[in-house]
Amino acid sequence: MKDTYKQIQVVLDDITRLNVDAIVNAANNSLLGGGGVDGAIHRAAGKELLEECRTLGGCATGESKMTKAYKLPCKKIIHTVGPIWKGGDQREAQLLASCYDTALKLAEENQLTSIAFPCISTGVYHYPRKEAAKIALETIFKHIRNGAYKGDILLCCFLPEDAQIYEQLLKEHLYDKS
Ligand code: ADP
Repeated sequence: MKDTYKQIQVVLDDITRLNVDAIVNAANNSLLGGGGVDGAIHRAAGKELLEECRTLGGCATGESKMTKAYKLPCKKIIHTVGPIWKGGDQREAQLLASCYDTALKLAEENQLTSIAFPCISTGVYHYPRKEAAKIALETIFKHIRNGAYKGDILLCCFLPEDAQIYEQLLKEHLYDKS
């Protein structure tokens, strides 16, 4: 196993419990809260998070914005907006990659040394799980390989199936082309 793999860890957990520098929220364009992981994060962080989010003016799909984490054990929340799956020919892959890309850029710019991602877009946005996991890993490995992000990355899965997909893909060693 090469060094790049050591930076990546697959965990099966509720992302709101993680004591990392930043957790990523799979938000919607309004940034004003929703269901799934977004709802769980807003509930656990408390109403001050919504107050800060109101000042941000929403977020475009594929972009990311950072807030404080309030009552959560992590230090920051990076809100990103994944694409809604519409069959695959609406730039979904590019937009999903951009979520991981812009979130990692924010983490690096703010000297964060650990970040946890949920499986963005694979809930109510219906992105196919395995395809989404491949894009996540490809984008993450690109950042690690070129030294653009030097911290730890947790792939936080809520469903055992998602953890199995990541473990399998990582075992296949498809992403370390260095
Ligand atoms: P999206 O709208 O981007 O599809 P969802 O919140 O519906 O967002 O789902 C994204 C992923 O987050 C799904 O894989 C879902 O299982 C997962 N998820 C839901 N709640 C949590 C949580 N508390 N911690 C981590 N992951 C979660």
